[in-house]
Amino acid sequence: MLKRLITLITLCFLYLASSAQTIDNAAVLARKQVPILCYHQIRNWRASDKLVDKDYIIPPETFKAHMKMLADSGYHTILPDELYDYLTKGTPLPDKPVMLTFDDTDGDQYEVARPELMKYGFKGVYFIIFNNINKNHHYMTRQQIRQLSEEGNVIACHTLTHANFKKIQGTHWEAEIDVPKKKLEILTGKPVNYFAFPYGVWNSQGLPQLHKRGFLAAFQLSEKRDPNDAIMTIRRVLDCGYWTTATLDYNIKHDFRSRPVKTKPTLVDSSNNSLKTSKK
Ligand SMILES: [Zn+2]
Repeated sequence: MLKRLITLITLCFLYLASSAQTIDNAAVLARKQVPILCYHQIRNWRASDKLVDKDYIIPPETFKAHMKMLADSGYHTILPDELYDYLTKGTPLPDKPVMLTFDDTDGDQYEVARPELMKYGFKGVYFIIFNNINKNHHYMTRQQIRQLSEEGNVIACHTLTHANFKKIQGTHWEAEIDVPKKKLEILTGKPVNYFAFPYGVWNSQGLPQLHKRGFLAAFQLSEKRDPNDAIMTIRRVLDCGYWTTATLDYNIKHDFRSRPVKTKPTLVDSSNNSLKTSKK
């Protein structure tokens, strides 16, 4: 009996040792940032739209011009798995990589963005607010999301109700994050490994929850990355509705430059999905 117990403990130890993985934050931050663009509504402006809303509402003709500019300039879209391997292991990316991300489950991302992306062989990442699916005619259906996934795009998590990440606590972690993650996995038949913070809002204290819940990386907007958890605070910029193609081109080139920062490595123990930051 004792012998069996010792063997079991040894096996557990070996398993833990082999599955522990360290993310070198200094290395992640030192790598050239990949431009990541963020979209919400793709529709013509209405008289009631305020200037601030136009950060989030890009007219279809502007969106089309921006996609054409990216294609004509030789950009290649990449997906989160490629970005993760590049940031954590240095796996090479295609020339002029860019990532296109779409938040909030808006139906025009399917109606307008999908055909434009297909025209150029581009793929996108769709961060789904689970409760918006089938909510009304402004939002995507389950079938549309499944189709986007089957066509090679990535379906990712943007909480159940667009909850403010800083305010999630207790049982809400499960309700806002675990439940929609699992439901999206059932809907697409694929793992959901990526997360975007609603409103781009995050705090360092909450980041271990994302590791614990099995996410590989998370995306914010354009705040500085967390030096001790860079992979969970990847930056994106809003491609604003009033940007010209020249503005977009400029921001792609200038908004994603790396700046030196002090870091500590993040120890991700994938065996039990717990995370520790080394104290040193
Ligand atoms: Zn959102």
